[in-house]
Amino acid sequence: MIYSGKDAVVLGLGHSGEAAALLLREEGARVTICESRDDAELREKAARLGGLGIAVRFGPEADSDPSRYDICVLSPGIDPAVPLVQNVVRKGIPIIGELELAFEECPCPVVAITGSNGKTTTTELTTAMLIGSGMRAAASGNIGLPFATMVRRSEVLDVMVLEVSSFQLESTRVFRPHVAVWLNLSPNHLDRYRDMDEYREAKLRIFRRQTEEDFAVVNARESLPVLAARRITFSAVAEEADFTLRDQVIHYQGEPVLDQAAIRLQGLHNAENLMAALGVGVALGADLDRMAAAVTDYHAPVHRCEFVREREGVRWINDSKATNLDALEKALLSQDRPLVLIAGGKDKGFGFETIAPLIRERVRLVILIGEMKERIHQAWACAGLEIQTAESLEEAVTLSAAAVRPGETVLFSPGTSSFDMFRNYGERGTAFKNLVNTLPLKVSPIISENEPKIPSI
Ligand code: ADP
Repeated sequence: MIYSGKDAVVLGLGHSGEAAALLLREEGARVTICESRDDAELREKAARLGGLGIAVRFGPEADSDPSRYDICVLSPGIDPAVPLVQNVVRKGIPIIGELELAFEECPCPVVAITGSNGKTTTTELTTAMLIGSGMRAAASGNIGLPFATMVRRSEVLDVMVLEVSSFQLESTRVFRPHVAVWLNLSPNHLDRYRDMDEYREAKLRIFRRQTEEDFAVVNARESLPVLAARRITFSAVAEEADFTLRDQVIHYQGEPVLDQAAIRLQGLHNAENLMAALGVGVALGADLDRMAAAVTDYHAPVHRCEFVREREGVRWINDSKATNLDALEKALLSQDRPLVLIAGGKDKGFGFETIAPLIRERVRLVILIGEMKERIHQAWACAGLEIQTAESLEEAVTLSAAAVRPGETVLFSPGTSSFDMFRNYGERGTAFKNLVNTLPLKVSPIISENEPKIPSI
């Protein structure tokens, strides 16, 4: 009831902004939403919220709203530098994120999962495995329903599992997850952050308020500062960790727990995602055998090294969610056949040079698309690697289908974002799958010896 009777403003009328406004309203606050955009869909939403006593301001009126408020809730997608936010900053109004607002109202322990890659997979896995062990768990944050919505239902939960991004963490002050998971860190979002240090600092806030009563489940290969929380470490490659991998079997403190060869999640990166989920289980006192049994039928979420089809001896894989080089690297490492790779997309502020040696080792043919295609071409060019460029994803799929050989895999793992050609990675991945699923057969129909030959003209 912290916000009862207070004047609150929520910046952004997206899913999480709407969820935050409804939570505040339920808590008894007077709520206004400010949204820089203005269109018919948003106006319709505003009319609905108006019926619940929530006011909405749009466009320039929102950007220069003169009102004073006790508290401001910022939606995670909004850049703090835009006029909408600066207008509130100038007035000295305290700003919190939707994550923190919901956290303050959450009655059950929180598990928060961050990293440059693997957040969604690990959040889903952790939730499914905890449920398998008999706990009442739900996933939220960047996944499924917003945290501010879920929190209104969390009284029936034993634990809330949150996927949290650096954008959500950068504004936290009181956020203190009982279990914080650090999967990995690699260059990402360098169009938003000044450099890697700033990006890392934003993510490190996940541990800031933890005490020795809490747990940090961390990748043993990451060099992290001294943490107050108790550490549980994991690594698919290092020997020194609580969770290790030997002959594809995940071990906890030397004892076998889960045989990766028997499940559908492949690759060292997924071994680490599984270890992190099991590490959360250790922190919460869950039964590890029951957690392991819960992944027998588990598939990776769509657009993450997703198997699309196998036809004429060719396997097609959709990894549209690979929006940075680390994800592309992991996709390459998890494939066991010669590769035709489709990559490229928006310029996100990093070069593709570092991954060139692995590309040359694993890939026979590269087909590049998008804003970065010429730059990637230059970064990867070498004797022995064929590189083609395409004007569209459709052309790239057609070129791949013509060039791929039986026994090979066509891997669509862009290594960068999609916004130059698509609305998001989901739209891009769905477009790829539709193109692959409607490809004409390559094999020409067999003409019988006795059939009349068509005379050539
Ligand atoms: P996020 O939510 O952090 O973006 P996802 O689970 O959606 O992570 O996966 C994004 C991309 O990263 C996919 O291409 C996936 O195959 C790859 N990936 C998944 N787990 C890892 C990991 N632990 N390390 C590196 N890449 C990973």
